Amino acid sequence: METAEFRRHAHALVDWMADYLERVETYPVRAQVKPGEIAARLPLAPPEEGEPMERIVRDFERDVLPGMTHWQHPSFFAYFPANSSPPSVLAEMLTATLGAQCMLWQTSPAATEMETRVLDWLRQLIGLPEGFTGVIQDSASSAILCAILTARERATGWRANEEGLAAGPPLTVYCSTETHSATEKDAKVAGLGRRNVRKIAVDERFALRPDALEAAIVEDRAAGAVPACVVASLGTTGVGAMDPLRPIGEVCRRHGVWLHVDAAWAGSALLLPEHRALLDGIEHVDSFVFNPHKWLFTNFDCSAHFVRDPRALVRTLEILPAFLDTRERPQVIDYRDWSVPLGRRFRALKLWFVLRSYGAAELRRRIAAHIALAGELETWLTAAPDFELTAPRSLALLNFRYRPRGLDDPAALDRLNERLLAALNDSGALYLTQNRVRGRYSIRVSIGQRATERRHVEAAWQRIQETARALGA
Ligand code: PLP
Repeated sequence: METAEFRRHAHALVDWMADYLERVETYPVRAQVKPGEIAARLPLAPPEEGEPMERIVRDFERDVLPGMTHWQHPSFFAYFPANSSPPSVLAEMLTATLGAQCMLWQTSPAATEMETRVLDWLRQLIGLPEGFTGVIQDSASSAILCAILTARERATGWRANEEGLAAGPPLTVYCSTETHSATEKDAKVAGLGRRNVRKIAVDERFALRPDALEAAIVEDRAAGAVPACVVASLGTTGVGAMDPLRPIGEVCRRHGVWLHVDAAWAGSALLLPEHRALLDGIEHVDSFVFNPHKWLFTNFDCSAHFVRDPRALVRTLEILPAFLDTRERPQVIDYRDWSVPLGRRFRALKLWFVLRSYGAAELRRRIAAHIALAGELETWLTAAPDFELTAPRSLALLNFRYRPRGLDDPAALDRLNERLLAALNDSGALYLTQNRVRGRYSIRVSIGQRATERRHVEAAWQRIQETARALGA
């Protein structure tokens, strides 16, 4: 494609992008296609000759778009948000155009130095103390993996990397029964074995119980295992539970166990000083992750991983073939040593665009607005006689179920709410996900899309009530 042609198509696509963001509300939120429907529209063999861009874009609109779930739709209340923003999209365009592979300082010094700087901006914004150094990972799962790997090396005196784990005693990892499945997956990947992950009991607010954690560590040690890592959560995926960092940190200190904090979603709320008490005990924390790609208006992927001792992380991951050596190596950061993949996109640029374009005050205002909307929905749900919250609201996350008067059979209530959720999502008007809270089928609402306003939450609540009452009648 010649430059003039590229320019023409790029302009047209920017118009498409702006129109899309303007009309995103007119699409069904969750894709309404059946399995295989999109595949059936895609040719089985690749084209032999190049095709005109007009045709490719037309087919994108006709054959691909119907199979997209619109995550930037203001009535997207499913999972956690992956909210992007116009400044972030603009930066992504530049990143794609530069097409740089930023694995080493030398392969793009600006990418490395900007990453260090914007991660320190983020550290300040969420109130993490000095002494934490940041790196961008592709996902919270990768950050947890890095934490478990570093903990593994520390617990084995840096031998597991050399000798493998077969020779030593089992290493154990601890998290609550509410913790995201990433911890278990990462323990598998790190070679620790899933059965060496201890799921610790939670209290009445779904937070990890430090006394149960300590008992498990003591018991494992007595049985010959080496407790290596605790993954505490600020904002679990199901109900948004907040594990108490101070007492957990004290247990970790007493037993020499690595403490990682997974704040993948809730970390963005730490921009608001009123939530900073969640960081009480942070001095005991070895590593911390939160995802600007969830709730900080920054396109996926962008996971902010902070470590207290970067040397430990680098010692765990570094490997130096001759072709990756550089003259500057002793003076600079080579982020390839800070994460599992070697190659890295220029991800700091979108954060730089977002943080500068909005400014901290506007980011705080937007996150506070999401939390306030969830607070309003909580009030409406609590006041409705035939609905109930199944867990306390956490920030902008709610779990509820429909419970019409006279219907008390647990299995029937589960089925009714399952049908309610399917009907709501099939309508295309909004998108919610399911959860189990203390065994009860629950509907989970997570508010956090950039374009979500009060009217969207009001409309969602209206539809939830009407659909539920029609089903329950
Ligand atoms: N931790 C929590 C609390 C999450 O909610 C999620 C995903 O929603 C993850 C970890 C995994 O995030 P990622 O997709 O960045 O690996």
